[in-house]
Amino acid sequence: MAVCELISVGTEILLGDILNTDAQYLSIELAKLGISVIHQSTVGDNRERLLAQLDEAAKRSDIIILSGGLGPTPDDLTKEVCCEFFGKELQLHEPTAKKIRNYFSSKGLEMAQSNLKQAMLPRDCVIFPNENGTAPGMAIEKDGVHILVLPGPPRELKPMFRNSAIPYLMQFSDKIIVSHNIRTFGIGESAMAEKVRDLLDGKNPTVAPYAKDGEALLRVTAMADSEDDAEKLCEPVIDEIKSRLDGFVYGVDYTCIEEAVVELLRNNCLKAATAESCTGGLIAKRITDVSGASDVFDCGIISYSNEIKNKILGVSEDDLKKYGAVSEPVARQMAQGALRVSGADVAVSVTGIAGPNSDGTDKPVGLVYIALADKDNVWVKELRTSRNDRSYNRYVSASNALNMIRLYIDKKL
Ligand code: ATP
Repeated sequence: MAVCELISVGTEILLGDILNTDAQYLSIELAKLGISVIHQSTVGDNRERLLAQLDEAAKRSDIIILSGGLGPTPDDLTKEVCCEFFGKELQLHEPTAKKIRNYFSSKGLEMAQSNLKQAMLPRDCVIFPNENGTAPGMAIEKDGVHILVLPGPPRELKPMFRNSAIPYLMQFSDKIIVSHNIRTFGIGESAMAEKVRDLLDGKNPTVAPYAKDGEALLRVTAMADSEDDAEKLCEPVIDEIKSRLDGFVYGVDYTCIEEAVVELLRNNCLKAATAESCTGGLIAKRITDVSGASDVFDCGIISYSNEIKNKILGVSEDDLKKYGAVSEPVARQMAQGALRVSGADVAVSVTGIAGPNSDGTDKPVGLVYIALADKDNVWVKELRTSRNDRSYNRYVSASNALNMIRLYIDKKL
């Protein structure tokens, strides 16, 4: 059986400035995987002492897990020393470098060149993405010894351990892990977490919340001796979550909301059409990204100018003048127009201000009207994203339109 040891890196731990809770967490989680931890040690931010510790560890353990020292400053040297120990060269990993650059520019901060140190990785490593920070972790292997490197801050280490290290370590475990993603729309991560707070403390299955691209999801993960047993552990928890988040859950294990919408349209023998202004065809693109969309998608009209809104969709010129293109009456008429010119059963429309500039009126960037029309009714939703981010606003507007189709079919509009 594979044996494991932990090396915590950081002078702060040696000085007693911080309590080594990472080691406690890792020991508990590794025991659950059936992996024995035979040794724990702490080393300061010192190259020679870390090399010496790695040398000792590699003689007695198959897996060495290090935490801390992944930051951008010169005293953060864990990754560099591990690579030196295994004789592996570091090189710039461009996707990680891009992520770091984006992180700084999205916060409007200037990036110091030293931050790119975190994007230096050996070519043959397994990269562990960092969902809560800039430094990725990694796993490297040589002569049957595996070194895993994780960041020090617990809020970075724990999700990385769950999402990347555990799947990597499963090769040493006799347990099976099963995970399911419960996808929601229309509820924020904190509000969602609030509704399932007690379930987040569960040990097996674990339930963890995530947020991405304006959506929140819960990942339910169970560990057992067989896949069947792991599925049985997940099942009641997934059912409970679905009932507590009724109306928000659009599916389990879908990769995106459009996948759920296409399936719903197909199951209900319905066809959709779109009339898009600020989303510029994004809803139609996302629907047609799903294989088999031709059964459920009739047409998409990109009515960017007021003239086309009027000529093709029949939006009243008076209303365009009186209320402006970004308004409830215009969204309403765009959806009705798309329904009329297409052979669809349901049509959605979007008109809004994606930014970065406003439309010359006093309407704010991020104001979007989304409408859905069937042959009897029209529903209009006003969305205020409060973000001056063009691609985010367009994406979230498209997602809201897709969600309206879902709610319409589920009779929850
Ligand atoms: P950063 O990029 O934030 O510098 P890092 O991976 O380099 O992350 P360290 O610099 O070693 O990590 O530690 C950063 C912080 O993470 C510490 O100040 C402490 O709050 C926390 N931390 C580090 N190691 C541990 C540990 N073993 N147990 C608990 N918390 C830790």
